[in-house]
Amino acid sequence: MAYVIYSDKCNLCGKCVEECPLQAISREGDDVVIDPEICTECGYCADICPEGAIRGQ
Ligand code: SF4
Ligand code: SF4
Repeated sequence: MAYVIYSDKCNLCGKCVEECPLQAISREGDDVVIDPEICTECGYCADICPEGAIRGQ
């Protein structure tokens, strides 16, 4: 399952960027994005995002 960050819900708190164990998430301008080349789809970021902005597809 690929994980996607929905920018309309994200408040740019940075929690997922700091806590992804593989550092697969980064800030790009006014968006936070997941690098699918690095992400192992563990789902941790979706669990910890306080806004529910990360979902598996
Ligand atoms: S944890 Fe959620 S709200 Fe915070 S930056 Fe990441 S996606 Fe956005
Ligand atoms: S699913 Fe896991 S590896 Fe992928 S971005 Fe989220 S925390 Fe990082």
